[in-house]
Amino acid sequence: MFYTHDVTTFENHPQWAAVASIHQTLLKSGYRSLVAGGAVRDLLLGRTPNDLDIATDAKPEQVEALFEKTVMVGRAFGVSRVICEGSDIEVATFRKDGPYLDGRKPESIEFSSEQEDAKRRDFTINAMFYDLEKKQVIDFVGGQTDLMRKTLRAVGDPDQRFAEDKLRILRAVRFHGQLGFTIEPKTAEAIRKHGVLIHQVSMERIRDEWLKLMQSEHAVSAIQRTYDLGLWSPLFQPWKLQPSEYKKHFSLKQSDPDMAWILWFLIHCQESKEKIAELGLHWKLPKTLIQKIIYCLQSLPQLRNIQKIEAVDMAIFLSKPNGRLAVEVFERLHQGRIKELFFEKLKSAESFFQSNRLPELLINGDDLIQYGVAPGPDIATHLKRLYRTQLREKITSKEALLQTLEL
Ligand code: ATP
Ligand code: MG
Repeated sequence: MFYTHDVTTFENHPQWAAVASIHQTLLKSGYRSLVAGGAVRDLLLGRTPNDLDIATDAKPEQVEALFEKTVMVGRAFGVSRVICEGSDIEVATFRKDGPYLDGRKPESIEFSSEQEDAKRRDFTINAMFYDLEKKQVIDFVGGQTDLMRKTLRAVGDPDQRFAEDKLRILRAVRFHGQLGFTIEPKTAEAIRKHGVLIHQVSMERIRDEWLKLMQSEHAVSAIQRTYDLGLWSPLFQPWKLQPSEYKKHFSLKQSDPDMAWILWFLIHCQESKEKIAELGLHWKLPKTLIQKIIYCLQSLPQLRNIQKIEAVDMAIFLSKPNGRLAVEVFERLHQGRIKELFFEKLKSAESFFQSNRLPELLINGDDLIQYGVAPGPDIATHLKRLYRTQLREKITSKEALLQTLEL
């Protein structure tokens, strides 16, 4: 079977100049050079690949000798990174994996043929090569058939493949989300069997895969699939599945990663800031993101009570670093249930802004002291009140503002 493909998908890729140059160097030195894995899958699907990887029969030390700049991050696994034409390209030697003991990575590898290299890959659709010279797909595992059938099938014996490396479990649901493909029954059965050991994968990898899943086109179905395959409780217990919320928030591709995490956390947990902090750290989220989630959580009661807030206070709220973010999160979480009053209040709050900023406070503490206010904690209270007066009455001079001060 021949799958039609358009090689300009590669040629238009930002890494293409580097890949073409590395490829030519490898060929001229008598080595084999093939584009491998996900990039071939994406070529056949007409999607833009995330990255272009090269597979070769050159050993890592031979790759190192051929190129000026290489980083030997994964040398023990036969992986080199070649820095070329401003890109960082993975050049991996055809290999066969040794035994897996920790549920994540092989203890050792052996250099081998391209056919063996296809067999160590996770899913058939990810296990193809592309010969740039012959413009041909090299498929030892039936990847093209599975692409046609929109099927995610583990390469070889699914039970063994998921026992080896639990990351493949998350990759399966993530690819289901990105491609909308069905997980083949035996592959699904093996996922069900090995899912309880998902924590053999580092939390950083789980986090990265989950983000890709949340941002995928078929995220709603992938979340449900995560549940059906028994992965929910190892990952998210004691949270409850919230299908109608996912439909609301994850039906359209969620491009902003922070927003995806904020919604994900707040859909399931509005318990306390301590709980969010604990979970955020467990999920290895950056501290700044955890703070954003907490800020949004803490703003929800205030935003729910917006009818009681003066427009000027709403403007001050919006001017805070995460104020607008909190409003957006509130709007999303309460979609369809927000009263007109909320938007009216927001609109009035916007009228205090000039070129997207609130005017600066016209005076400072020294001005107040000179005006006769005794130094001390009262200064801050006065400044706060004067700022609201300045904004509300659109005062533009220091003197006019000081005159409003009642001592
Ligand atoms: P993406 O579009 O996210 O880049 P990808 O399939 O290209 O998806 P990569 O992480 O770039 O994923 O990996 C490149 C290739 O390496 C995969 O297509 C697959 O052939 C192989 N691979 C990656 N991770 C694993 C794994 N855990 N087990 C087996 N093979 C893997
Ligand atoms: Mg890739």
